[in-house]
Amino acid sequence: MEQAFLKYLAAQQKPALPDSVGIGDDAAVLSWQADQKLVVCTDLISDETDFHLVEVTPQQIGRKALAINLSDIAAMACEPVGAFLTLLLPSGDTSLDLAKGIYEGAAQLGQTFGCPILGGDTNSWPGKVAVSVTVLGRSPFDQPLLRSGAQAGDAIYVTGTLGGSILGGHIDFEPRIREAIRLREICGLTAGMDISDGISIDLPRLCEQSQVGAEIDVRLLPISDAARQMSQTTGKPAWWHALNDGEDFELLFTVPASEVDHLEAQWTDATPVTKIGTIQSGNQLVLLDEAGQRQPLKPEGFSHQ
Ligand SMILES: [Mg+2]
Repeated sequence: MEQAFLKYLAAQQKPALPDSVGIGDDAAVLSWQADQKLVVCTDLISDETDFHLVEVTPQQIGRKALAINLSDIAAMACEPVGAFLTLLLPSGDTSLDLAKGIYEGAAQLGQTFGCPILGGDTNSWPGKVAVSVTVLGRSPFDQPLLRSGAQAGDAIYVTGTLGGSILGGHIDFEPRIREAIRLREICGLTAGMDISDGISIDLPRLCEQSQVGAEIDVRLLPISDAARQMSQTTGKPAWWHALNDGEDFELLFTVPASEVDHLEAQWTDATPVTKIGTIQSGNQLVLLDEAGQRQPLKPEGFSHQ
């Protein structure tokens, strides 16, 4: 199977990057500017944990495996350079089609973000499908955006709308690479990350790295249609889903108070940005509820085991 897949890949692979060697040799070769930071992230998804093979197409699996990594590259306000795709496939006759489909889904998304598949590995085993993607990126700025720079008084923002990704958004979301770079061109972001497990789990992570507290107002959360739909079946408020549902893959970022007006005036992108709260000194994480009452922010989002 592996030889047949390699033959298929050889037919697919276009010259990837100028002055580089992609699939076909023992290792990939990339040119790199000496003063440029290399940013690397990797993520593994598997059947039954991150998707259900019977409910999605192979292309959707490949797309998601790359997209979650591109979301991490976006979280650093970096741009992707290339990706490595490693497949562990169930033994059997269908594995070549599965491999091709996964590759196609990843390669198509990669193409729209200037991120070719530069290599990887494939293997079969008597288990379920697992896909690992590693992405290399570079920072168009002096330093990548980190989680650790938030300061008391900074405004807390999110991109897009939140909640209810289980209804489909977790499969076909758009990584916020262009938005992250544009935001950073407009204003001095102090910290950022992507929302993978829900704000109630991810915001505390950013605060811990920055050694600050935060206060967010549930009345300000940009609620997705999917969160409203979820609310009707679960009986929980739509804002609860916006706050706690995982896998939105939107950006969570902080902006100095002095730059908020400038950001709001300059931001014309189709993806909305919404202020949801303020960074505080200390380490308290506070939620203003629907009545404006202060509550402790509890981590009720989705956590990967
Ligand atoms: Mg992340």
